[in-house]
Amino acid sequence: MATVHSPELLIVMAPGSTGDEADHVVARLQEAGVDARVSVGREATVIAATGDRELLATLPLEGYPGVAQVMPILKPYKLVAREVSADPTVIEVDGRRVGDTWFGLIAGPCSVETREQTLETARAVAAAGATMLRGGAFKPRTSPYTFQGLGVDALELLEEAKAETGLPIVTELMDPRHVEDVLDHADVIQIGARNSQNFLLLAEVGRAHKPVLLKRGLSTSVEELLMAAEYIAKEGNERIILCERGIKTFETSTRFTLDLGAVAVLKHETHLPVIVDPSHAAGRRDLVLPLARAAVAVGADGLIVETHPRPEEALSDASQQIPTAEFAAFADEVREVVSLMGKELG
Ligand code: PEP
Ligand code: MN
Repeated sequence: MATVHSPELLIVMAPGSTGDEADHVVARLQEAGVDARVSVGREATVIAATGDRELLATLPLEGYPGVAQVMPILKPYKLVAREVSADPTVIEVDGRRVGDTWFGLIAGPCSVETREQTLETARAVAAAGATMLRGGAFKPRTSPYTFQGLGVDALELLEEAKAETGLPIVTELMDPRHVEDVLDHADVIQIGARNSQNFLLLAEVGRAHKPVLLKRGLSTSVEELLMAAEYIAKEGNERIILCERGIKTFETSTRFTLDLGAVAVLKHETHLPVIVDPSHAAGRRDLVLPLARAAVAVGADGLIVETHPRPEEALSDASQQIPTAEFAAFADEVREVVSLMGKELG
């Protein structure tokens, strides 16, 4: 496959410049054979120009009316870089929002196991104010001898839960062979930690017309996570939610080490919403609330949390799922910190 140009230059329009002036810049870029990505923000418009560096250097961009500043995009990630978007990105799904001042509370079982378990959980999380329903249909399990998920049957149960509660569905896609099935039923496609750098799968969801929840890999750096997101964005899908879910370290007192520093860095580096999964990081249910509170306080745009009507009977991740009977109290605690941060549930 041939290499392609990446966005190289950022053209920042002056506050108070007009839409016509931005259109004029875009028209000049297009005439020169340069692609332009325009982001209109509350206070400014920014235009990212994609094309040959030498060609870009010949254009008198700074002289065009309304242009305040022209600067190179120096980071290896381009489309997801903070400065390429005038405002933080808000992902909207069926009227639910994640990003900027909107906080997403995604909750549901680790795995979809039965109709009863799925509907019971969906009702409980909807009543508690969750904004989306999670549930695994295709499960990435460490052991091939453990429950692998109900597959398409699970997708149908999730669809039924959505019809009853109105909650959009978040579910994992593990394999390009399941793209059609998952896209038929999911509202947000989850890419799990183990597939965080599966570049062909990332490109596949980059061509999909549904938002992607991209989890950080177990030993993926912040920069690698942003480059993984860039694979998705490059294909045209910029509706991406990033998720910190804990990384592998020498520490074994929690299942993974929740890297909240990475959340603060990501908020600095990208315009995409960043959420936190305290369940997989903690590995035990008593730690989920404290980690969730800390995630909200560090600036996360949402949480994805596992809950089950009878966690002790769960077919996967039994020790970290919160009983649905306790989920409303959990959501109330989270909501308090969310409001302290000047945000509200989307
Ligand atoms: C999950 O969310 O169900 C999951 C398997 O998470 P992760 O990919 O982060 O391990
Ligand atoms: Mn799980």
